[in-house]
Amino acid sequence: MWGFSCPEKTVCLTFDDGPTPVASEWVLDFLRNEKVRATFFCLGENVRNHPELFERIKSEGHAVGNHSDHHEHGFKVSKKDYLASIEKADELIQSKLFRPPYGRMPISYDRSLRKYTIVMWSWMAYDFDEKVSIEQILQSAKSIRNGDILVFHDNLKSSERLKIILPQVIEMLKDKGFSFEIIQ
Ligand SMILES: [Zn+2]
Repeated sequence: MWGFSCPEKTVCLTFDDGPTPVASEWVLDFLRNEKVRATFFCLGENVRNHPELFERIKSEGHAVGNHSDHHEHGFKVSKKDYLASIEKADELIQSKLFRPPYGRMPISYDRSLRKYTIVMWSWMAYDFDEKVSIEQILQSAKSIRNGDILVFHDNLKSSERLKIILPQVIEMLKDKGFSFEIIQ
């Protein structure tokens, strides 16, 4: 799925690549203050290293999804290794949602991943990419529409830019009357 059908003026906020100390903690504090719920596509290895953060995500009413164990690229590892990575992450994450790392994998894998809903996105924050300026990102956020799935990153690399971008995007959307749904 790239977007979803939903009541008027609703979007889904998602975070990829966590949970990581500092970045996820900041995101969780921010979302709690804003009373916004989100869906976190977690890496199995990060859940293994920071189980308390994973538990906090779930206990604060957010949804979780599988984002593989070690962020394998679907075109750069064998199918066997790719599926094994997802299964390994599933032992900890136990979600029926899967988002392929880099948003790409061979289309034929769909059949092997039938037990999952594959969740892509329709608006990317580019919080991780310093080549995209914050002004450009905020400009592009003005085009966010009903049913969009937004993706941000709760990892160390994106953390400083995320702290600037996320509050402004949420404020902009709230001002326009949007509400936020989790994916389940
Ligand atoms: Zn990712």
